[in-house]
Amino acid sequence: MLPAIGVPVEEVLADLERFRATDRDWRAGRVFGLVYDAGDEVRTLLERAVGMYLSENALNLDVFPSLRRMQRDVVEIASHLLHGDATVGGYLSSGGTESIFMAMKAARDQAFALGRTERPVVVLPTSAHPAFDKAAHYLGMRVVRTSVAPDLRADVDAMADALDTDTIMLVASAPTYPHGVVDPVPAIADLATSAGIALHVDACLGGFVLPFLERLGHPVPLWDFRVEGVTSISADLHKYGYAAKGASVTLYRDDDLRKHQLWQFDDWLGGRYTSATVVGSRPGAAIASAWAVLHHLGEDGYLRLVRQAKQATDRLVEGVASVPGLRVVVPPDTTLVAIAADEVDVFAVGDLLAEDGWVLDRQSPPDAIHATVTARHDAIVDEFVDALRAAVARVGDARGNREFSYCMAE
Ligand SMILES: *Cc1c(COP(=O)(O)O)cnc(C)c1O
Repeated sequence: MLPAIGVPVEEVLADLERFRATDRDWRAGRVFGLVYDAGDEVRTLLERAVGMYLSENALNLDVFPSLRRMQRDVVEIASHLLHGDATVGGYLSSGGTESIFMAMKAARDQAFALGRTERPVVVLPTSAHPAFDKAAHYLGMRVVRTSVAPDLRADVDAMADALDTDTIMLVASAPTYPHGVVDPVPAIADLATSAGIALHVDACLGGFVLPFLERLGHPVPLWDFRVEGVTSISADLHKYGYAAKGASVTLYRDDDLRKHQLWQFDDWLGGRYTSATVVGSRPGAAIASAWAVLHHLGEDGYLRLVRQAKQATDRLVEGVASVPGLRVVVPPDTTLVAIAADEVDVFAVGDLLAEDGWVLDRQSPPDAIHATVTARHDAIVDEFVDALRAAVARVGDARGNREFSYCMAE
């Protein structure tokens, strides 16, 4: 109930502290997902940048030209990292889901404008994120999911077989969330180009990782704007960009497609209304946090964080291989590790780990527990491998909780 008399600041804040004592303590590094923590200094920077832009609203950039400038800078930085040329443009959004939503809306509206179909279909591998199906549901589009190859990357022949005259867009992931593998983007791009349709690359996880892995000398297959036929890319600033939550970017290779992201309206009593994203009012804080962290970390900062995350991933992959009965589902191209078990129930292993505060997602098929590995985990990964080993040793024939869900809305 709304308090009849307002509660003093210190008491309200004490309540928040009390509430969050029941949350999982990601600061200790035992949460492998959801949180991307680049350390105390970055956190302080984000708190201050967010604090400065708490009230500013990116709904009207004429009123807040600083937000326009920062949005432009962030788009330019992302485009440069992903090898876009001067024609690449885009917008910030609230997250990966909204970035994907907007890329699908742009492709749909361009297809409508060209009179290509009235029943737009998007073809994507079954490893792609549910955000595409969610957006399709909202946008009146249809998704066709195709199988993946044995290496869990997109099966390009299956995608080709699924194509028909209603198909307006293909999707590739760089990397996929479940297994951290990069789809064969050049082959999918050839398919999109020969069909004359769009190709969106979902680099929500890889956008701020793969460019630096490549610079560090790791083998990274081509996936970005260097691949002719890639028409749009999404990349999440609030994941491996280490920005505050609420920041992602959608980039378009060409202006015509980009402009189809916009929505304009003037048939009401309030004048012309133009909006680039799903939401109306948009927090300036998210834009400021993204700008601040990109400039504070710089290329050397991201190289350091990506090196740490990759090192932690490699040690986790080796550690899993050293535990009898455990294996990684597939060696990841990036920093996500799916762990499966042959003789014990891997979800029961997950239950034991959870008792000690280790938080991993669960996924199926195949049954696996899933770690999103960040720089933060470099310091704790050996301890985690020990915890894995101990859990497998004592799990016996326990069956784990299969009633898992990514998130419970209520
Ligand atoms: C996280 C993620 C998304 C969705 O992003 P949100 O920020 O959670 O909305 C989309 N695709 C991939 C590959 C992701 O990992």
